Amino acid sequence: MKRIIKISAVILALVMAIGSLCACGNGTSTENPSATEKLVMATNASFPPYEYVDDNGGFAGIDVEIAGLIAEKLGLTLEIQDVDFGSIIGGVQSGKFDIGMAGMTVTDVRLESVNFSTSYAKGIQSIIVPEGSEFKSFDDLSAKADVKIGVQQDTTGDIYITDDLGADHVIQYKTGNDAVQALVTGKVDAVVIDNEPAKSYVASNEGLTILDTAYKEENYAICVAKENTDLLDAINGALAELTADGTIDAIIAKYIAA
Ligand code: GLN
Repeated sequence: MKRIIKISAVILALVMAIGSLCACGNGTSTENPSATEKLVMATNASFPPYEYVDDNGGFAGIDVEIAGLIAEKLGLTLEIQDVDFGSIIGGVQSGKFDIGMAGMTVTDVRLESVNFSTSYAKGIQSIIVPEGSEFKSFDDLSAKADVKIGVQQDTTGDIYITDDLGADHVIQYKTGNDAVQALVTGKVDAVVIDNEPAKSYVASNEGLTILDTAYKEENYAICVAKENTDLLDAINGALAELTADGTIDAIIAKYIAA
């Protein structure tokens, strides 16, 4: 909110300054005067194809592209900060970040802390197991007395498995990649993670497969501090335009084969 008030004040001051320039006969400036202001996005860039670090060391992915276009529409410069997934919501609440965008699922518990934009994509929680594993379903996993499931800490996969099987059966990792490496080296029996990162990790690690079952279905959205309603409205307006003109579908299709 403070940032938005600050941005509005800057815009007003600059519009007035440009207005006075125009009065002197210089009316050619169409540049958005707020473009030097930043939109700070917190993400966890270990979630392909939504956000990851590409071969050139830059951020790439569906969320990165959508956020870039939203910032452009808002006349802001996008700044991305790569942080632990579990610290995104707290950082947005405290005003350290303007938005959290990280393939983040809308949940009732999270809605108590932050607001969410309209949803721009759907996710499914998938289960990855080693190829030829004895586990063919979630029921098979839950039937094993000492089953261990790897998850990315603080994600919905973590929350659902902890609720369904109990914390003793969950091993939390900092990133989805760390959880998958634990599966590759036999430290866990399965990994529960969103379906698109699951496909990406299975493609880049030999000997893994995704069970043919949708563990949970969810909606992804951008989180914004509760009091930052102007920013939320502006983001929803930008998302509506990007949806109506087919841009969001095109970005998703670029990264995810239909
Ligand atoms: N969709 C999951 C969640 O919101 C995972 C997100 C992620 O790992 N980046 O918890």
